[in-house]
Order: sequence, then C-alpha cells, then structure tokens
Amino acid sequence: MGALRDRFWELDLDTLSREEWEALCDGCGKCCLHKLEDEDTGEILQTNVACKLLDTGTARCRDYRHRKAFVPDCLRLTPRLVKTVSWLPQSCAYIRRARGEPLPDWHHLLTGSHDAMIEAGASIAGRCISETVAGPLEHHLADWDAPGDANWDDAG
Ligand code: SF4
Repeated sequence: MGALRDRFWELDLDTLSREEWEALCDGCGKCCLHKLEDEDTGEILQTNVACKLLDTGTARCRDYRHRKAFVPDCLRLTPRLVKTVSWLPQSCAYIRRARGEPLPDWHHLLTGSHDAMIEAGASIAGRCISETVAGPLEHHLADWDAPGDANWDDAG
C-alpha cells in the first residue's frame, strides 16, 4: 500500500492515488442501500434495504475485494462518476469533495475513528435491513438526507 499524503483529502479528486481514493470513503454504507425511482417524476427514493453483502451491524461490505463477483452491478466509484450519479447521499465524502466542500467534522480522517460518524447519525450501521429478508422495497422508504438524524421506518 502506497503512502497517503498529508491532508490528501483536501487535494483535487482527480489527483488522488488509489489508496487515497479508497481511504476517502467515510464508510457510512449509504451507497449500499437500494433506491427506487418514481416512475412519474424520476425522483430517486431512498430505502433502508441493504445489499446482501453488507454487514448490517457495521455497515461494511463483507467481501469488498470480491464484491463484483457476487454483485456484478456494484459500481466502482471514480472521480468522473461521482460528478454524474444522482443517488449518492449529500454526506458522502466523494460528493462533498467533488463540490469543493470540506469533509464533515465527524469524518474518520479528521477524528481517527468511525465513532464520531456513528454518533452523528451518519452511518447506517444497525439501522438497515438486508435485502435477503426485507421484502418489497416500497415498505422501507427512508430519508437519509433529512436534517439531523436520518429518518427510517423499520430497520431490522
Ligand atoms: S456513500 Fe460515499 S462515503 Fe458513504 S460508503 Fe458510499 S462511497 Fe463511502
């Protein structure tokens, strides 16, 4: 693994090494939740239903390295993709940096651990349900971008 540059997260996304890019992820797990698209308006609706590979207790992928073998449509984010996808959460470190915004105070690169992120309500750990048991997505709508703590209906 290459060395991470001092305060690399303040640099332009296009200039980050692969290791720096990976380290920028705050580990919230929100991109591993299913979304629905409103047929009439095209609006993206968030849910609290997680990919089958996600550990719902920690919000970490259980096999990140081999995830595409199990979930072929899992997206590998790139600087270009971050600027085009509409469904990443507003708190996502890649979205914030793509907009030139600083990382949130709770980000692990600033605090040294994921504790502050969990305390801030920015992680889905323990607040989502696996797609293997969830049933219809329509029953699990959530608003993770709501101000303050995220709203969610029935995390299991
Ligand atoms: S939403 Fe962004 S910060 Fe959160 S886990 Fe996904 S890529 Fe990482």
